[in-house]
Amino acid sequence: MLAANWKMNKTVSEAREFVNTFALAVKDITDAEIIIAPPFTSLMAVGEALRGTNIRLSAQNVFYEEKGAYTGEISPAMLKDAGCEYVIIGHSERRQYFLETDDIVNRKIKASLKHGLNIIFCIGETLEEREKGRTFDILKTQVTNGLKDTDSENLVVAYEPVWAIGTGRTATPAQAQEAHKFIREELRKLFGANADSIRILYGGSVTPENINSLMACPDVDGGLVGGASLKSDSFEKLVRFNRRIK
Ligand code: PEP
Repeated sequence: MLAANWKMNKTVSEAREFVNTFALAVKDITDAEIIIAPPFTSLMAVGEALRGTNIRLSAQNVFYEEKGAYTGEISPAMLKDAGCEYVIIGHSERRQYFLETDDIVNRKIKASLKHGLNIIFCIGETLEEREKGRTFDILKTQVTNGLKDTDSENLVVAYEPVWAIGTGRTATPAQAQEAHKFIREELRKLFGANADSIRILYGGSVTPENINSLMACPDVDGGLVGGASLKSDSFEKLVRFNRRIK
């Protein structure tokens, strides 16, 4: 799975232009699930442009309540109505700038699952936490609390070390594999053998230059990509990584 997280980038017309070019460029790809997560304002336009293509629509965030006086928020039902199949939950930028806790993340996951959305659940340690040797503790807490009372169906996990996001400093394949293997073991504690079919994506400064070595890791099942997904030719190179290995 290769998922594009556009964050707060692209107007509606820029988003439409990207998708028109990109969908044509990747229409032959059948062995990777391709996801685009535009800002809320472009969901409808991108969804329409993606109809009949091999690319799926994701939102970048959601609120856990069904409806009501929550100014500025969007519910899971609204995302479904806008054509989303996926939603990114718990991104480190939401945790850092919007003070999302594991409990909020857990509520968002449960509410979204109830409405049939697939979840891209993001976790990852900060640089300070890594340097203090707390990486595994943090990942364990985020997995255990974020996924409390949920099930493994419709779940994708994204390991995104915060120090690697948007910094150009990618985790080495060994660091990524070590974290993914640990996450897989934690998922097994929650979901038993079903954990083996949960895709674990790596995110954090993935580029066409480093994707092959990351994807060669046994527990890396895809990528969640910010910066390198904003240009059609660069995201195309990422989704074609496996053909470029051959
Ligand atoms: C992200 O924000 O999910 C991300 C991985 O960003 P970047 O690829 O720019 O590091």
